[in-house]
Amino acid sequence: MLDLLNYIVPKYYWEYRRQYLWQSLGKGREEVKLDNEPIIEFGGFKLHYCGKGQWFGETEHINYFAHFGSITINKKVIWLNQLFLYRFAGISNRTNKDYDFFELVRTIAHELAHCIIYDFCPGEDSHGIKHAFLTHSLNQFLLKQKEIKELEKAWEN
Ligand SMILES: [Zn+2]
Repeated sequence: MLDLLNYIVPKYYWEYRRQYLWQSLGKGREEVKLDNEPIIEFGGFKLHYCGKGQWFGETEHINYFAHFGSITINKKVIWLNQLFLYRFAGISNRTNKDYDFFELVRTIAHELAHCIIYDFCPGEDSHGIKHAFLTHSLNQFLLKQKEIKELEKAWEN
C-alpha cells in the first residue's frame, strides 16, 4: 500500500491541480505558466489523535549557488493516520472503526484540497466552502481512478 500511496499522492495532486487551474482560469493548457512549481510527497502513516490526515506546506530558499542567486522550493507533505494501516492489515477494533477504505480516499481528498487551496488562494479559510467543494470534487475524481480501484481491491483482500 505504501508504494501505491507514494505514487497516487503526487500523481493525483498534479492531475487535479492542472484541471482545477484550467477551469478556474478558463484558459487552455499552453497558456498556463507558473513559477515555482511545488513538489509534494506522501510522508507515510503516523499516529496522531486529532485527525485522520495532516498536511504541511513550506517554502525553502536555498542559497547553494551564491553567485547565481537562490532557489525557491515550495514543498508539501501529506501524512495519514496510522489507524488506516491497522485497518488495512485486518486489525479492527473500536479505535479504527471509522477508518475504512472510503474514509481513506476522503482523507486524501481533504488533504489534497488543502494543498491546492494553499497554492492558489493562500489566505482562504482552511475549512471553508471552497475547501468543502474541492474535497467533494476531488473525492469523486479519485474514486474513478484506476490506482484507487486497485487500492480498493487490495483493501478488500
Ligand atoms: Zn483539514
